[in-house]
Formats: sequence, C-alpha cells, structure tokens
Amino acid sequence: MASNKRDYYEVLGVSKNASQDEIKSAFRKLAKKYHPDVNKEEGAEAKFKEIGEAYAVLSDEQKRKQYDQFGHAAFEGGSSGSGFGGFSGFSGFEDIDLGSIFDEVFGSSFGFGSRRGTSKNRPQKGSDSLVKVNLSFEEAVFGCSKDLKLDLDEECDECKGKGGFDEKTCATCSGHGRVVTQSRSIFGVIQQESICPDCNGLGKTYAKTCNNCKGTGHVIKNKTISVEIPAGVDTGSELRISGKGSKGYNGGPNGDIYIQFKVKDHPLFKRDDNDIYLDVPITITEAVLGGKKEIPTLDGNVVIAIDSGTQNGTKLRLKGKGVESPRTGKKGDMFVIINVMIPEKLDKTQKDLFKQLNETDLETNSEFKEIKKFL
Ligand SMILES: [Zn+2]
Ligand SMILES: [Zn+2]
Repeated sequence: MASNKRDYYEVLGVSKNASQDEIKSAFRKLAKKYHPDVNKEEGAEAKFKEIGEAYAVLSDEQKRKQYDQFGHAAFEGGSSGSGFGGFSGFSGFEDIDLGSIFDEVFGSSFGFGSRRGTSKNRPQKGSDSLVKVNLSFEEAVFGCSKDLKLDLDEECDECKGKGGFDEKTCATCSGHGRVVTQSRSIFGVIQQESICPDCNGLGKTYAKTCNNCKGTGHVIKNKTISVEIPAGVDTGSELRISGKGSKGYNGGPNGDIYIQFKVKDHPLFKRDDNDIYLDVPITITEAVLGGKKEIPTLDGNVVIAIDSGTQNGTKLRLKGKGVESPRTGKKGDMFVIINVMIPEKLDKTQKDLFKQLNETDLETNSEFKEIKKFL
C-alpha cells in the first residue's frame, strides 16, 4: 500500500540518526509555530497534526524502529492488507492523543487548552498483576482450583481510601481541583489551566495525613484469590481474571490478574497442544503375531489391538482421547507410538527358537530384496 505521507524525519527536520533530545527540541519548536491557537494560516492545523504524528512515532524507540524498518506501512494496521498485522497493538493515528503528547512534552504550563493532566480526581483503573503458576500435568489437563497469594494495591482501611482525616475544601482552588492563570508570552496572553498544586487536583485537603498509607489512600495487602483454572491450559497459556486485581482509584474499575502457566512434564504422556503422545513398547512376537495390549490413557486404561505385522514406529490414533481445548471445548486425539523391543538377552530356548526361525525364509520384505540385487 503506497503512502503519500511525508517522511517523519523530514517533517521534524531532523536527520535519521537524531538523538531523542534533538527530536524533542525540533518538535517543540514546530509545535509552537503551528499550533492552531497561535497560527491562523490555512493548513496550519494539518501541519500541526503531522508534526504530532511524526513525534509520536520518533519519540518512541520501539515505534521508531518499526518505522525505520517498514516506513509508514508499519502503522497502517492489519485491515489495510499490508501484511504487518503484527503491529495490531497500534492500529493508526486515531489512537494518538495529541493532547497527552503536548502535556508530556510541555507540561501543563504551555496550556494549549488541553484539559488533560493527571488529576487525582479522575477515576482510574487499578493496576494489572501478573502471576506465574506452576501446574502438574493432570492439573493442566483436567483443570483445578488454586488459591493464589499475591500483593495487591488496596484501599487503606484506616482512612477509607481518602489519605487523611478532617476534610476541608481546598482554599487555593475553591474545591475545583484546577487553577487558571494568565501569562504574557510571544503569542500574546495565554490562559493556562493546571492542576491545583495544593490539593493535587482533589479539591480538598486534610488536616491530618493518614499515617497508615502516608496519604496515598492505598496500601499493599497480601491477598489470597481463589481461581478456577479451566481444563486444557498449557505452558504459555494466559488466563485473565477480570476485575480481581488492584483496587481502582476514584471509583475506577479494579485491575485484572493475568495468570501465566508452567506445566510440569508427565513421566509417560507427552503433550502437543491438545494431542497426547504415548510410546508403547511391544515384544517382537507381539509385533509379528499381533494381539491385544492394555495401555493407560488420560481417562483410564483401554485395550488396543495390535495387528499382526506391526512395524516399529507405527502410529495409532485414539480419537478424542486427548486434552479438551479450553477455547473450543473439543477434545484432541491420543497417538500411540509403537516401539518394538529387540531382546538383548536370550536364554538357551529362545536362542534355539531364533536359530530355527533363521533357517526359514524370512526375507520376504520387498525392500530387502532391493538391497539383495546389489550384493
Ligand atoms: Zn486545590
Ligand atoms: Zn490511609
């Protein structure tokens, strides 16, 4: 997919190997010049967006690397058919919040009418937690319940999450959490709105800070979370327990808990996704004459039929005797791999029987006849 976008380095007027400081300073300069509040020329706004977009990519080492490698195609998203679906986490520039970029680069002092910032008033989701859990082969295959102990950020009991006692309305901002100031600059008068420095945007202050949480309203608690682990998880699978993580702020939702599994090997069964493999040793007489053989499966023993003339390495499929997929609920298969054991020690009777056997014509195998032609 051809892109008619300008090269990001060109947009910011920096070289390909510009340092982060150079990129930031080029961006600052251009953003001030083209900000629509300041520059009323036609096309200034488009230019301003272009600058913001270029900066969003080049200021992020990972995105910059992708851009250096694939150009604009790196960010055109999976739907464009450009084949870079691997970057689906970053699907396009609708995702870029220019407001937050400006807050980050200029701080709240530059104003820009952006009403973002990190007010403590805003409901915020609690942080997510990652737990690694070891499972036995059986626990992973059949599912199990586990009690997980983990440290979670929870509301402070002493102050009920407020961070202090004896609440008062903040005098500096009259409870708004934000203060507006005006200043003169080369652009004229700029009105700035920023988070109130006295109450950090809360709009209220406390006469006494809570000692238990040092005023944060949150404390780390070691909690036990009971989790039902579904049948069929495997090493590398991830399970998300929604809303059971750290407490959200200001009524925001709780964080999530992500569980990653590591499953121990089984002494007999090998697992490949939802299929199970089992090596079954049989004697040469069982291989030659055939017979019945009792073998273990995930759900109890079964008897399988060994055909006469079974070769070493034969693979038998037991349909539906594998692991249930946690996604589809369908069961995988079990594969029995026949391992014909050649006896290493024989008693006299057995040796005599083999000698007798050797006197008969056993070379009926066609492949051997092929070799014989060359002898
Ligand atoms: Zn205040
Ligand atoms: Zn507290």
